[in-house]
Order: sequence, then C-alpha cells, then structure tokens
Amino acid sequence: MATNYETLEYDVLIIGAGGAGLRAAIEASAAGVKVGLVCKSLLGKAHTVMAEGGMAAAMGNVDDRDGWKVHFADTMRGGQYINNWRMAELHAKEAPDRVRELEAWGAVFDRTPDGKILQRNFGGHRYPRIAHVGDRTGLELIRTLQDHGIHQGIEVNMEHTVVTLLKEGDRVAGAFGYDREHGRFKIFRAKAIVLATGGVGRSYKISSNSWDCTGDGQSLAYHAGAELVDMEFVQFHPTGMIWPPSVTGMLVTEGVRGEGGVLRNKDGRRFMFDDIPDNYKAQTADNEEEGWRYCRGDRSARRPPELLTRDHVARCIMREVKAGRGSPHGGVFLDISWIRERIPNAAEHIKRKLPSMYHQFLALASVDITRESMEVGPTTHYIMGGVRVNSDSQMSTVPGLFAAGEVTAGLHGANRLGGNSLSDLVVFGKRAGEYAAKFAKEHGAGKVNDDQVEEAARQALEPFNRGAAGGNAEGPYQVQYDLQETMQNLVGIVRREEEMVRAADGIAKLNERAKQVAVYGHREFNPGWHTALDLNNMLTVSEAITRSAIERKESRGGHFRDDFPNKDAACGRMNVVVWKGADGAMQVRRQPIPEMPAELKQIIEEMK
Ligand SMILES: Cc1cc2nc3c(=O)[nH]c(=O)nc-3n(C[C@H](O)[C@H](O)[C@H](O)COP(=O)(O)OP(=O)(O)OC[C@H]3O[C@@H](n4cnc5c(N)ncnc54)[C@H](O)[C@@H]3O)c2cc1C
Repeated sequence: MATNYETLEYDVLIIGAGGAGLRAAIEASAAGVKVGLVCKSLLGKAHTVMAEGGMAAAMGNVDDRDGWKVHFADTMRGGQYINNWRMAELHAKEAPDRVRELEAWGAVFDRTPDGKILQRNFGGHRYPRIAHVGDRTGLELIRTLQDHGIHQGIEVNMEHTVVTLLKEGDRVAGAFGYDREHGRFKIFRAKAIVLATGGVGRSYKISSNSWDCTGDGQSLAYHAGAELVDMEFVQFHPTGMIWPPSVTGMLVTEGVRGEGGVLRNKDGRRFMFDDIPDNYKAQTADNEEEGWRYCRGDRSARRPPELLTRDHVARCIMREVKAGRGSPHGGVFLDISWIRERIPNAAEHIKRKLPSMYHQFLALASVDITRESMEVGPTTHYIMGGVRVNSDSQMSTVPGLFAAGEVTAGLHGANRLGGNSLSDLVVFGKRAGEYAAKFAKEHGAGKVNDDQVEEAARQALEPFNRGAAGGNAEGPYQVQYDLQETMQNLVGIVRREEEMVRAADGIAKLNERAKQVAVYGHREFNPGWHTALDLNNMLTVSEAITRSAIERKESRGGHFRDDFPNKDAACGRMNVVVWKGADGAMQVRRQPIPEMPAELKQIIEEMK
C-alpha cells in the first residue's frame, strides 16, 4: 500500500536546486506557502555551480548605450526569431533587477573602477552586458541563493530522485521518488510543482554537462501530459576541451574570447574572419585591430568574429577540421596568450580574469594558457527546447505543473546567447515560484492515487528482479553508451534525414533493451540502479530531439541540416511541438508562432 511510504506534504514542491529551482523556492516561500525542495544532487552541487562566464543583464554599467530593447533585439536575433517574444521581452526588462537583487542578498561581483557591477563581452551581445565574478559566476549565484533560501525556511530533500509525477485527473497532485542513499521510496504531496531540473547533455557522448543532466524534467513533464517544444535545438558550444581524453567535453568559457582570445587553425590563420553571416556583418569587425579594440572597451569598435553566435562558431570550427586544417586532436587552437603583445602583465591579467581556465588547463592538460594555445572543439552544452510554458506564469499545459530554467523552452529560440541562461534562471525562477504559490493558494491539494504509486514503485524495482533471475540480461551502462553514440553521430552538429531516421529506429531498439536491463546488489546507493532509471528519461528526450529535428526541414540556429542547409521562411513561423498521444506514442505537430506586437517589431527593426 502507498501508505507504507514516507509522505511529505507541501504547498509548493520544487524539483531541482540549480539557479532556477532555488530562485523559485525563495519566491514561493516569500509568498507565505510551505515549500519543499528536492534534488538529485547535494545542495550547492547542481549543474549551475559550473557556470563560468556570467549572466546577461542590460544594466549599462560599462556602456550606457545598452538597455532592455537592445538586449531583447539581440536575444531574438540570436534565437533567429522563433523565440517566444514575450519571454524575451520579460527577460530583457527584468534581468537587471534580478541581478541587483542578488547584489543586495550579498553576491560578490567584479567591479568597475567606480564601484558598479562590471560587465564583460559575450557572443551575440552588442554591448558588454555580462555581470560576472571572474569565471566562477555560477558558484556565486548558487551560494547567494542558497544562503538566502535556507534562511527562509525552505525544506530541502537532497540526494533524492523524482521518478514520476502524480496526478489527479488533469492536475498534478505530487511526485514520487527515492532517496539515493538508502533507496527508500517517498511521496511528495503538493498543490503545485515547479520543475527546475536543467538540461539533457548526458544523452550525448561529448558534453559539458554534469552527471545529473539526464533530461528528467522534460521526460517527467512529457509523461505527465505536458507538451515539449523546440526540442531539435541543441546547442553545441564551440569551445570544449578535446585533449587529453579524460577531459573531453569540459567547457572553455566564452569569457576567454570575450577577453580577447582568438581562434586559429593549424596554419595559424584566424579563420573566423572568413565567414561572417550577412545579418551580423554590420556589427562585426572586419579586421584584427578593430576586434582587439572592442575587447579593450573601445566604443567605436565592432566585436571580433570569435564573438559571433555559438552555433556559427561551432560550425566554422567543424569546417576547418573537416578541411584538414584542424589541430592534432581534431579541434582548433584558442589563443589568449597572444595578448602579451598588447598589454603589460598579460599573464597576471589572464590569471585574474580567467582563474578557473588557467587552473583547469594547467592541472588537467599541462597547458599554461598565459603562454600557449588551448586545443578546443564543440561540446554538447545546452538545450533551447523543453517544457512548453505560459510566458508570464511559467505554467505548463498541465494545471499546477510549472517549470523554469533550462528545462523550459521559449526564451532562446533556435540558439541561446551566452550569459542568457543565468539571467533566465533568476527571471523565470522568480516568476515560476510566484505563480506556483498563487496556484497553491487558490487550489486545494489533489488526491494521490495509490495505484499510480504502486505501479511506479513496481517499475522502479523491476531491474533488480531481472538481476536476481540470473541469465544474461545486460546492465544499463552499455545501453546508455549506445544511446550517447547514436545521438552524437546521428543527431549531432550536422544532421541529415536518413541518419536521423536511423537514429529514431535505433532509439526504439534501445528502448526495448532498456526495458530488459538488470541491476545487481541492493538499493543502497546503487549507481547501476540510478542509471537504469535515468535511461528512461534519456531515451524519451532523445526521441523528442530526433523526431523534432526530422520535422524541421531547414537549418536554423543550433539545428543544422546538410540536406536543407538554408533557412526556410515557412519554418521560421513555427515551433515544433511533441506530446504523448493517447496510445502512448510520441506525436509531433507544427505550431504557428503568434504574431509579434508592432512595438516589439519596431524595436527589432531599429536595432538591425
Ligand atoms: C561548464 C558550464 C558553464 C556554463 N556557463 C554559463 C554562463 O557563464 N552563463 C550562463 O548564462 N550559462 C552558463 N551555462 C549554462 C547554465 O549553467 C545552465 O543552463 C543552468 O545552470 C541550468 O540551471 P537550472 O537551474 O535550469 O538547472 P541545474 O543547475 O542543472 O539544476 C538542476 C537541478 O535539478 C536536479 N534534478 C534533476 N533531475 C532530478 C530528478 N529527477 N529528481 C530530483 N532532482 C532532479 C539536479 O540535481 C539539480 O539540482 C554553463 C553551463 C556549463 C555546463
């Protein structure tokens, strides 16, 4: 009986303790409701802690020409105009207040000489807009939110994994999960739930994402009846470490290029000048001298082509590699050490501005970035798609189920600008918390269905039964590995129909294998069991990415198709939506993008 499981009761349950979850928890708690937070990771160890370069907010501290309208236009241009324009508007307007609020809560930022929050350059942002603390901004964000949240009395259940959402009729009534240490099941009853579970990068072989980015939130929402949108748009960050093999995929922050780092091929050529897209020509330097002046804050200079959007830079790198002009280990060179020619004390400057990068390369690759180039190549970094939410309230298509942060879709369209995620977390985390609390106040608690709980428990324990039965059942790791290979090779940076159809078939077969995996040992901290359960989520999001990518027959932002290399005007007016059909199979449809209001259209025109 379900009553045998420990049951915790909240008004609002937040799933995930990254920037989005913590900010949502603070806001819900401030509204006077009882808030519980559950996270797979230890508190303070969510993926957000890895964020490096900073958060985008048009405060105009370094360049007073900046403002919300420019930030809005940059975000829409970066997202290639299929963004949810209302989310882009809210984000650009509210991000400065959210950053100032963090400052008031004790966050430490780098400062301008006159004591304002310092802002740096990042790809696709017209002006220096990225508030930062060296290259450890995520750590500071998490530390600040955590300190503030704990003092508000939020109840934290860390190292717990939610495996299913519980529903009464259409609405959510709670969540069912287990504590990872002891493997004991728990029921979390809640009037409203905020999903803040982050990204999906672990479905790919090469990824910058942390271990818990297995797409759980997207999958939980999908199986609970919510819609997912824009899942084809996966961002491959252009600069991940590629050597030695033990560090492949680890991120090299865009901050390196923001501080003047340049990309060169094996012949020493700065290849990024060779291909500047038409819609960025007016804003991009056409010579090295101008690019350097931009990095030094010259307001009359245009940004260097290394700071074009991530999708474009990643493809330019792949082009060099494919043409045989790559570095020894299949990437290109990123060089910040060259600034020694331009500024005194360059080594000290690099260490101060990019301390983590300096230590990362020295400790892991024996490369001193103040003297040598780094070898870099694209790494799976972020998913622009996710749970479809209402732009203002963040509620999904399931009543009482809210979502915020990387698990959602809309703000970033076809491609996210660097720095726009951390600001997304605090802007929409706050909104999700506020509206979830409102929902909880206006609705009573839903009833938890014992049968649903028992079925979820039975399914979760099945891998142990198969292990105990003996025989040759395979473990979950080989299935996980094969999925990562499939996604990397067939639904990666450059896609084509025939390969993606093969991937879809492969995923169907992997689904069958996942249903048969066996685990051994017992429930107390059993990584094999955890992986067996994660697999279901990884497979669901991989299918959603693949089906959506097949449906979008054009190239746009993070989605590049060899067989449809250009943008298509009709595709530019729609999002791709997937949902679970009545028969349990994934359904796909094209959803027209609502018409943008005239005043927002005018802003985009003015900023061209
Ligand atoms: C190396 C690196 C550097 C980056 N740098 C920047 C940057 O400088 N600027 C920027 O804007 N963006 C940056 N990003 C992107 C940004 O860090 C992420 O998009 C963002 O932190 C995601 O935050 P989140 O709150 O949505 O989720 P996360 O921080 O990923 O948190 C998800 C939480 O959900 C929990 N969870 C997941 N599944 C479950 C489950 N089933 N049950 C219970 N809990 C669950 C996890 O344990 C975790 O606590 C960077 C990303 C990487 C990898």
